[in-house]
Amino acid sequence: MFMKDSSMKKSVKFKVALLIQVLITVFYKLIALKGSTLHDILFWAVMGLGIYIFYMVFGYFCHSCKKNQIMKGFFSYRLPSDTCWHCGEKID
Ligand SMILES: [Zn+2]
Repeated sequence: MFMKDSSMKKSVKFKVALLIQVLITVFYKLIALKGSTLHDILFWAVMGLGIYIFYMVFGYFCHSCKKNQIMKGFFSYRLPSDTCWHCGEKID
């Protein structure tokens, strides 16, 4: 599966995970099949991906200046890129 591709850049991996999360969440809200297997699968997919993204956000630091690459502040977030937003150091 492409999510497990280790050659994929961390910033790209994060954006893909975030995109899939949004898509699944929308799909989950659209279908009203409570109790069905698909509903359960989607629920756990959303939960699992949510935890994955959560850990990625908190573990995404620049090696050089130690700034978090996603959380700039409590209410300030950004999408990660290949280089640090603060010092310009390469992340991957
Ligand atoms: Zn930095």
